[in-house]
Amino acid sequence: MSAESPDSRHQVVIIGGGTAGITVAASLLRRRPGLDVAIVEPADRHYYQPAFTLVGGGAYDLARTRRATQSVVPRSATLINSAVRTLDPEHNAVELDDGRRLGYSQLVVAPGIKLDWGRVAGLEATLGKNGVCSNYSPETVEYTWQCLRAFTGGNAIFTQPPPPLKCAGAPQKIAYLAADHVKRQGLAEKTQLKFYSGGGALFSVPDFVPPLEQVAQRHGVEVMLLHDLVAVDGENKVATFESKNADGETARVEQPFDLLHVTPHQCAPDFVAQSPLANAGGWVEVDKATTQHVRYPNVFSLGDASSLPTSKTAAAVRKQAPVTVQNLLAQADEKALTAAYDGYTSCPLVTDYGRVMIAEFVYDGVVAPTLPLNPFRTSRFYWWVKTSFLPAFYWKHMLAGREPDIAHRPRRAS
Ligand SMILES: Cc1cc2nc3c(=O)[nH]c(=O)nc-3n(C[C@H](O)[C@H](O)[C@H](O)COP(=O)(O)OP(=O)(O)OC[C@H]3O[C@@H](n4cnc5c(N)ncnc54)[C@H](O)[C@@H]3O)c2cc1C
Repeated sequence: MSAESPDSRHQVVIIGGGTAGITVAASLLRRRPGLDVAIVEPADRHYYQPAFTLVGGGAYDLARTRRATQSVVPRSATLINSAVRTLDPEHNAVELDDGRRLGYSQLVVAPGIKLDWGRVAGLEATLGKNGVCSNYSPETVEYTWQCLRAFTGGNAIFTQPPPPLKCAGAPQKIAYLAADHVKRQGLAEKTQLKFYSGGGALFSVPDFVPPLEQVAQRHGVEVMLLHDLVAVDGENKVATFESKNADGETARVEQPFDLLHVTPHQCAPDFVAQSPLANAGGWVEVDKATTQHVRYPNVFSLGDASSLPTSKTAAAVRKQAPVTVQNLLAQADEKALTAAYDGYTSCPLVTDYGRVMIAEFVYDGVVAPTLPLNPFRTSRFYWWVKTSFLPAFYWKHMLAGREPDIAHRPRRAS
């Protein structure tokens, strides 16, 4: 890219007005009112995605997950309703879809993860009909509940791609809700529930695997690991998986279905992967403690698009954002970057209607609960946390840049 001068310049440019972008903007402006912050965001709507699981299970209204983007942008920030097309960190500029160039003193890259629906042959043509649903998009999540309500027995299949994916627990949460629903409808005898994962374990943190295996067993959900969905024939209702055995040999397995819940393959956004900011995997290559880019010091990244080696969740963003903000401001003041992120992330694993187990952990899979409760038990209290407390906390506290938070305590699980 040429070094042509930008059409406009801001002290801080934030790419993405999702969970991470809005939280960082709000927190920056709360700490330093008057700072010149611009957010580049193409979408008119901001979603609270963690509630999509509940929407798909018929336990939450989609309208409650959605707000106008403009309404969540801090009043003194500039919203630029466009998408970034190219990153030019050598010249401290980004190029937008409409050809404009934006200059910056500091850049925060938070455009989330790309949902790669096209990776599964036939999926795009049949998604939203023929019993093929997905909680991963606001366009398709309500169809999940329609499929569940219309289900009268047969094969209910749930898929999870190999990593990376956001909220790695979400693919199995809907399987458990479906199992509970089927039981309540008296359809359990007539139903086979199968969870196919492209990964090699039910969950990334070994301590949570046995309790989750018990949940799957209790619900009669058969777990098939190392099975990656590669094709869907919606009209004939057949899903094809590529399976791998211990020697790495692959085979194709066909599975007829009556209901198929698909979690799409996911990857870094193209414009990030093709930029000088990317690591070999395509993610924005940042220091895992400071969130600062390893080659371009005035660039920071957090959330799903970053290389931070932890599970990609909004809960992780909650802890990454204050670190990023403190380090951005320290850099602007020419001070050392002292704030450090410990890898905290959390996944509220919905196991039944009315029960949730919250998996909280830091780097290296160390379990780190916030509350002094058994982290491996499902509880009614955590259902209330998931359905009532966390959504309110998100809109009123996190997106408003209010940082005070309850500390988590890393521990070695027995
Ligand atoms: C079904 C489901 C269940 C989930 N459950 C949970 C849960 O229980 N708990 C939890 O903590 N997390 C959960 N998550 C994950 C959580 O929503 C994400 O990890 C979180 O939103 C990541 O924040 P982010 O800002 O990185 O990305 P996002 O919030 O996705 O925001 C990215 C933003 O960048 C914008 N953007 C994209 N490309 C560009 C571009 N070129 N230029 C400018 N802007 C761009 C997008 O429009 C979007 O607004 C769930 C997600 C899903 C889909």
